[in-house]
Amino acid sequence: MEWSNGGLNKDGVSLSAGKKRPRESHTVEQSGVDDKKGCGEPFSWWTSLMLGITAYDDGGNDEWLPEKPQKPLPSDCCGTGCSPCVNDIYEREMEKWFELQRMSIEERQRIWRGKQEAQSETEKALSPEKYNKFELISFIQVSRDSFLCSFKLPQNQTLGIKVGQHATMRLKDHEGKYIARQYTPISPLNQKDHFEVLIKLYSDGLLSTIIGATFKPGCLVEWKGPFGEFQYSPNRFKELVMLACGTGIAPMIQVIRAVLENEDDFTKLRLLYASKTQHDILLKNLINEFSDYWNFSVMYFFSSCNEEKLSLDKGQVCYGDCVKFGRIDQSILESELGNSESIQFLICGTKSFDKDMIKYLLKLNFNYEQIFKF
Ligand SMILES: Cc1cc2nc3c(=O)[nH]c(=O)nc-3n(C[C@H](O)[C@H](O)[C@H](O)COP(=O)(O)OP(=O)(O)OC[C@H]3O[C@@H](n4cnc5c(N)ncnc54)[C@H](O)[C@@H]3O)c2cc1C
Repeated sequence: MEWSNGGLNKDGVSLSAGKKRPRESHTVEQSGVDDKKGCGEPFSWWTSLMLGITAYDDGGNDEWLPEKPQKPLPSDCCGTGCSPCVNDIYEREMEKWFELQRMSIEERQRIWRGKQEAQSETEKALSPEKYNKFELISFIQVSRDSFLCSFKLPQNQTLGIKVGQHATMRLKDHEGKYIARQYTPISPLNQKDHFEVLIKLYSDGLLSTIIGATFKPGCLVEWKGPFGEFQYSPNRFKELVMLACGTGIAPMIQVIRAVLENEDDFTKLRLLYASKTQHDILLKNLINEFSDYWNFSVMYFFSSCNEEKLSLDKGQVCYGDCVKFGRIDQSILESELGNSESIQFLICGTKSFDKDMIKYLLKLNFNYEQIFKF
């Protein structure tokens, strides 16, 4: 499918990977290399294996043995039941490390060479095992509290995530302690050159505060991934109903794009998107473009706005938009959805939003298997 506007829409978001945003070329340092320079950051054992760096390279039994894997921080885990979870990956790495420790030096060397060849073939920029650094190329405010962040990808690499998956970003606080949080890239999955993330900043949020203070184009940010359980294949569901609030739109964008970009995918898509006012709708222009497709529809819910206010307030809502005032509640869901076994629900919002939506759907006799929470 060809998009008509050079790959970017008015939100500044790439619509498809076919057209790229022109950028200057940048070099991106990988965390392992930095660590070698003495920045004191954790080092994946595979990275050190790749680089042939042996923590104990003293010619003794530990030759070609990389550093021991580092235990993930509690905040490295998003707590949503990813498979594999960062803690599973750590355990797996520990097993591999012990296995390697038991091997002869020649065997370790042979494995390192095989791994090096495999690495040169891969084109995925993210790794679930170690943090890699990506250069921030822009940080643009798109609503009162949300920012669109673009990160440079190494040449010829895609980010390497699948529909609905997320990645973990970590930054150091003022004491040098790492804080990690999960974010869902919204740019096309096969896009090279750069990837985009929509980030809401909380005035009292731990990572939000660091992002607000440190994000400047040119800075290097560490990412690890992909993670996430959601599995999508074309026509797997007859109808997808997406219940989102705020930046909960991010994983939905991936799903919507995957369906709409595939002309053989006839899945019906309905987005019920909640925000405080029309000014808080994120990626409105992109959603408008999705609305041109026969199988996509959107309904906006404003919790802090009424009809009178809306008519006085010039904002993003335009003629033809379907708008409701108030929250998404059980009666709205009942009247809008009926009860069909062919519906699959996707939910993403705040903890309380997610909890409420699940409660309403279960009360309406939809079953657990029909509900997926990102
Ligand atoms: C799978 C996944 C994908 C995500 N994708 C995105 C995305 O694409 N974009 C995005 O913006 N966010 C996304 N998030 C949320 C994101 O990871 C962070 O949670 C968010 O950015 C806040 O992080 P923070 O450190 O700034 O705030 P935190 O310090 O975690 O606090 C966030 C808010 O919660 C409040 N809070 C913190 N602790 C408590 C407590 N114990 N009790 C009550 N309130 C508390 C704080 O006051 C603050 O208002 C995603 C989360 C998950 C799990």
